[in-house]
Amino acid sequence: MRQIDLHVHTTASDGTYTPTQAVELAARLGLSAIAVTDHDTVAGFDEARKAGEKLGVELVPGIEISTHFGRAVHILGYYIDPKSRILADTLVWMIRERDVRNRRMVEAMAADGIPISYERMRERFGTAIGRPNFGQILVELGYASSVQDAFDRFIEKGQKYYRSRKMLSIERTVETIVRAGGVAVLAHPFQYRLDDAGLRELIEHCLDYGLGGMECLYSGYTAEQSAYLLRLAREYSLTPTGGSDFHGLNKPAISMGSGKGDLFVPYELLEGLKERKEKRSE
Ligand code: AMP
Ligand code: ZN
Ligand code: FE
Ligand code: FE
Repeated sequence: MRQIDLHVHTTASDGTYTPTQAVELAARLGLSAIAVTDHDTVAGFDEARKAGEKLGVELVPGIEISTHFGRAVHILGYYIDPKSRILADTLVWMIRERDVRNRRMVEAMAADGIPISYERMRERFGTAIGRPNFGQILVELGYASSVQDAFDRFIEKGQKYYRSRKMLSIERTVETIVRAGGVAVLAHPFQYRLDDAGLRELIEHCLDYGLGGMECLYSGYTAEQSAYLLRLAREYSLTPTGGSDFHGLNKPAISMGSGKGDLFVPYELLEGLKERKEKRSE
């Protein structure tokens, strides 16, 4: 059975593999297709698609947007039109809000004597800079032993250098993906620590704005958890998707394709996603 991974981050956001390196890894692993789902940017896709053409890996354009519904909730967007005006305007706003937040984090660290410069971070990490990039810096400067340790002690919500950023509402997020021609998918539903009623409330709320799918297979989810999500997806006529959330060395426990060891996303889920996209554009 052909294997895919519909949730991959690259250096265009906070992954450590360049788009080309990510596709090279996918080819080595024998994956038939991957989706590049960087946070708040589609800047990595062109390079990935070109590498995919050379190496025989199908590339799915994607994005991941952080939003909130009582708590942090992530929405994936697949097959969005990169030339969509509303999407481009929204991304400009989100990157600007990231910059505002990131500069505040840099100021707080610098005030404690940590030798960090946002200009240098921009040169190195590009435009969509996220907290894992701060984690990398804290590791390199010897303040943390790993990116996870940096989160635990410095940059996780509630820690000293955490700063919040303005985010798009969940309604606008789903709507924007749909208006950009994409399929909006609820990412990693178990991350939100909702019970069945809470998850249904979240799904039903998003359905009103055009939610089209739900990530049912994900790193670390048990067979029972995935079966439950697949049942929910069927019940709500949502297209099931699956992916690892690969970030390279920024999340060393997660491997592309196989996640924490036992993830297997079959190609047929991508066929379902394509059908959903076609229905959208009719
Ligand atoms: P940002 O959007 O810049 O605030 O950063 C969010 C990124 O940080 C996402 O990729 C998350 O997966 C990652 N992240 C959030 N919390 C943690 C944590 N406790 N440990 C490791 N990574 C985290
Ligand atoms: Zn990330
Ligand atoms: Fe996420
Ligand atoms: Fe992700």
